[in-house]
Amino acid sequence: MDLTARIYIAGHRGMVGSALVRRLRAAGYTNLLLRTSQELDLRNQAAVEQFFAAEQPEYVLLAAAKVGGIQANNVYRADFLQDNLLIQCNVIGASHRHGVRKLLFLGSSCIYPKLAPQPIKEEYLLTGPLEPTNEPYALAKIAGLKLCEAYRDQHGSSFITAMPTNLYGPNDNYDLHSSHVLPALLRKFTEAVQLGMPQVEVWGSGTPRREFLHVDDLADACLHLLLHYDGREPVNVGTGQDLTIRELAELVAQLTGFTGRLVFDPSKPDGTPRKLLDVSKLHALGWKHRIELTEGVRQVLAEATSLANAPVLS
Ligand code: GDP
Repeated sequence: MDLTARIYIAGHRGMVGSALVRRLRAAGYTNLLLRTSQELDLRNQAAVEQFFAAEQPEYVLLAAAKVGGIQANNVYRADFLQDNLLIQCNVIGASHRHGVRKLLFLGSSCIYPKLAPQPIKEEYLLTGPLEPTNEPYALAKIAGLKLCEAYRDQHGSSFITAMPTNLYGPNDNYDLHSSHVLPALLRKFTEAVQLGMPQVEVWGSGTPRREFLHVDDLADACLHLLLHYDGREPVNVGTGQDLTIRELAELVAQLTGFTGRLVFDPSKPDGTPRKLLDVSKLHALGWKHRIELTEGVRQVLAEATSLANAPVLS
């Protein structure tokens, strides 16, 4: 990939897209094509076609998506399915029609069956039913990765797909109704310390296990795959290590200096019991994560702290 190549990063204001911009700029890429969702609504096929015709990107990193935590996925089910399908069909289709040399599509570890054997290998895709709370999002992401495979099969397109585990980092969503667990806990514990609250509420039973990857590591892995991978199968991107939600809450409590009680709310869903990715394929391709969870959480705590003056939302 030439340092002056025209690289379109779809979703550059999101947590993943902004990390990709940072990583590519640091590597010396100078010709990044960026559009906000106000400037270019990726659900609008005509607008997407017009953009590709005018800008002729050579590489596309598809990090634009409607995303959210367990509650948002479960409540806005139609939006998660429809918006993501539209974005993917428009961007992947336009990439083919306008001769994009390589495309990277970002999926999610929630595409795998709810009760997949652990750690989850790429080939377990479509071997069992999905977790119901995020089935619409997962179905859209599965369709996106299959569309990339289908373009490769039918037209020989260099469209590759990466499946990241749960992510965290700068530009995360701290809205307690729609966020994922880690930013939610960072915010809740930070506020509890500031307000001197005796307890913090943690959703569900605390027993589900999750794996967390810093988004800067993901961006680094994406660049590695763009440069060194051109296969049909998806590639899992994670750390290969997980912990329980209770352990995660205890870690955040410790790092924020919270000494009160954890209260588990069983009325909130647990979601899938475990989703630890098997990252041996990624390791065999020569990439391994660098930022360990404790260090990464310390890094993002400053960001959460700056948001702590807003009122607790739930
Ligand atoms: P998931 O990985 O798709 O299930 O999405 P989340 O990151 O939203 O949730 C992961 C797990 O953390 C689930 O078992 C949640 O019930 C649990 N959890 C505990 N407290 C919270 C919270 O405050 N917010 C969220 N989103 N999840 C929480």
